[in-house]
Amino acid sequence: MVQLCENSDCSNPGKSRCWRCKERYYCGTECQHADWSAHKDNCKPSNRLVAVVDIPGKGKGVIARERIPRGTLLVAEKPRIILPATSKEKLLKSMSLLSEEDKAFILTFPGKDSDLEDRLKHFVPCVGDGNTCLCPTICRINHTCCSPMSGPNTSYTWNEDSKEEELYAIKEIQKGEEVQVTYMSNASNYDGDPPAYLRRKYNFDCRCPGCTRSPEDRQVSGERIEAYNDFVDILPGRFKTDDPFRILVEIEQQILIICEEGFTGEIDGRAYDAFQLCTAYEDAASAKEWMKLHLKCRALYHGKSTEQYKKSVCYTKNPQMHGGWGYLDAGSLKLRGPSKKVLECFYSS
Ligand SMILES: [Zn+2]
Ligand SMILES: [Zn+2]
Ligand SMILES: [Zn+2]
Repeated sequence: MVQLCENSDCSNPGKSRCWRCKERYYCGTECQHADWSAHKDNCKPSNRLVAVVDIPGKGKGVIARERIPRGTLLVAEKPRIILPATSKEKLLKSMSLLSEEDKAFILTFPGKDSDLEDRLKHFVPCVGDGNTCLCPTICRINHTCCSPMSGPNTSYTWNEDSKEEELYAIKEIQKGEEVQVTYMSNASNYDGDPPAYLRRKYNFDCRCPGCTRSPEDRQVSGERIEAYNDFVDILPGRFKTDDPFRILVEIEQQILIICEEGFTGEIDGRAYDAFQLCTAYEDAASAKEWMKLHLKCRALYHGKSTEQYKKSVCYTKNPQMHGGWGYLDAGSLKLRGPSKKVLECFYSS
């Protein structure tokens, strides 16, 4: 039997599956988009891909129950507890008003005695509405640092549309392998000495391959990350004053450095910077290529269902629609898209 496209008014063969749940068939992305409002409530990852287990020396943790390809949505879950995080006072007040059952659930997470406040370190943000939440699976995932020899295999993100916390595989994960995230997800969160930071904030000794290097090696990494952060901070200001060719060269150099340090997620933002530079100089062809790289990185870490993602897809066809098109009034210049090295950096990470 031929599998047909499951968009109701289409009878083409269904050649590809829904990228998200892998359970519904479509003839192509147009039909998937057309069917989305009907399908989205049933579009769930199986939640059978991972299991919460005891991990020797770490308390609880999460492992993969089968081989999981890069890009897979592993978990989408509603928070068990949501607290307002706009002020500390509000947060603690709401916490004190929780049911005994909810308080007992919070205390199943590791921390000092029966100190509820100490467990707040396990909560993750519900981005957009200023809340913080505790999820049964995602909040059990252990940390690993981004470093030249290690890095997380998953990334979690808040989906404002479904009001669920989602977990994506940013690397291929083998059956039985521990699922890990990083608690210091951006290079800009980098805090001098990761082991000291993790001890202070999360009260554990990180024994990841990055933290067990010699202090000298860690210092070299620290200096490279700090130089990268300085570069990013002043980058937008340079668009008006510096040679755009030179800026692109430096963006690429910095992408390669920060990926070597394990922060592959940074490609997202730097590809967007390069896109903005190309739109400022009205170079549509190069802007499209940078936007494609930006969106690939976005999708890997945050999925494709966010509003921001859907909005940005049009720039891969019409960068002229972007608000920054020609804003420098510097005329048009033929710049360039990402080099082969930078693309490899994304695909091989
Ligand atoms: Zn179709
Ligand atoms: Zn689906
Ligand atoms: Zn570490």
